[in-house]
Amino acid sequence: MILRKATIKKNIHVPNSIAEDSTPAGVLDDIDEDLLGLLRSDQISPKPLLVCSGGTTSRCASNGHWTLDLRSNHKIIKFQEKSKQVSLGPGIKMNGLLDELSKYGRSFPIGLSGSIGLGYILTGGISPLSRSQGLAIDQIVEISGIWGKGQRFVISKPNRDNTNEEQLIWRGLCGAAPFLAIITNLKLLTQPLRKLNILKSILPAKELANLIYQAEEWPNDVSLSWIWGNEINAYGIGLDHNKEVEVAYQKFISTSSSDCQSEVFKVSSLKKLPNLRKTMQFKPSSIRYHEEVVGLVGPPWKELTYEIIKLIETLINQRPNDRCYIAAQQLGGISNNMKIDYSSFIHRQAMWKPWITAAWPANNKTIRDESLDWLLNVWDKLEPYCPGTHLAQMHQHLPWHKREIQAAFNDWLPGLQRLKSEVDPNGLLPSL
Ligand SMILES: Cc1cc2nc3c(=O)[nH]c(=O)nc-3n(C[C@H](O)[C@H](O)[C@H](O)COP(=O)(O)OP(=O)(O)OC[C@H]3O[C@@H](n4cnc5c(N)ncnc54)[C@H](O)[C@@H]3O)c2cc1C
Repeated sequence: MILRKATIKKNIHVPNSIAEDSTPAGVLDDIDEDLLGLLRSDQISPKPLLVCSGGTTSRCASNGHWTLDLRSNHKIIKFQEKSKQVSLGPGIKMNGLLDELSKYGRSFPIGLSGSIGLGYILTGGISPLSRSQGLAIDQIVEISGIWGKGQRFVISKPNRDNTNEEQLIWRGLCGAAPFLAIITNLKLLTQPLRKLNILKSILPAKELANLIYQAEEWPNDVSLSWIWGNEINAYGIGLDHNKEVEVAYQKFISTSSSDCQSEVFKVSSLKKLPNLRKTMQFKPSSIRYHEEVVGLVGPPWKELTYEIIKLIETLINQRPNDRCYIAAQQLGGISNNMKIDYSSFIHRQAMWKPWITAAWPANNKTIRDESLDWLLNVWDKLEPYCPGTHLAQMHQHLPWHKREIQAAFNDWLPGLQRLKSEVDPNGLLPSL
């Protein structure tokens, strides 16, 4: 592969420790004519080319692979007052998006952390406000990028006059873009900036089950997230000045037992959400940890909630170390209203997204194997209740990649593979 040496670095500093500890073939920090020429003539080797926006996943850089790091040269963000839409480049993290929009009294349904990058939007984007504002992909109105075969494109959200082929391309890009293209810009709808009303509870397993059971009946303006490690921390995240949200919180507080420590407080925006992971309170350690995460999705748990929570309690007690954990966030509401064939996020009937985190000290193969086995066992046990996956992280390097892809796209997978064969015929980007 021949590229101007000035554009190539040999290492990468990113939030994800597996990626940071890898030895890439090289790191490119911009897209120039040299690189486009190599894409068009299929000269990138080995494949896939990895793409980095926020750098929070283990597949933004990997041993022996090239990474295209878009963080420093694509920091474009521009709000258009008239349309209330924002143009966003892959160099901007979700907190940066909120900072810019807050100047205009606007916001965006970001996820539980503002420190993640454009990959959040490209992989679906499940926000604590998705029940009232939709998924992040539901806010996209225009996508610019470069197909795997090297051609630039700018595509607007289709309407009824667009051809079937154009609708399919849009479907592929909304939720599965990382398999098809390098995304250089998104134009997004924005939402009014609203204060949030938060319920925080540290609670025992039985009360978590009660809370989940109640949350399935909550209004769309509030969602539940919880994280279960050494203790269970749960958060209701709702819009402020909303009587129904207040009633939902008061109902839980008044019906829960005295071993729940619950409080209600306000925050000014999604940027000020409490950090779920910080509630894990790991013992201070000089050991560097690596992690992999799998996200599942499934329908309301209804009366099965109590048996599912008992099952999760057993699985938590089998954790190989206390950095492994299970957490979940709530979907539903208007995110269920979008037609299934609008985007590549096919799990429109989902109510819960549990995610499983396996962690181990870097370079400790024994504990790595134990932790990944535990993750797989949790997945097996929860699969009957949450049969889908949310492909927020790529795992082409792990043996369950095919299973994860199948569960993410199901009947849409052959269509997506057909689309990939047209726009990325040489398999430059991660495989499906
Ligand atoms: C602390 C934390 C909290 C999170 N909370 C949520 C949440 O609430 N809801 C939710 O849905 N997800 C959540 N996630 C998951 C997160 O959205 C995904 O892991 C997402 O892919 C991270 O994107 P990134 O840009 O930060 O990471 P990267 O590692 O840079 O990118 C992730 C993947 O996206 C692809 N990609 C990135 N940029 C581009 C591009 N410009 N063009 C093409 N492909 C690209 C690449 O294949 C890459 O492997 C969370 C993750 C973390 C670490």
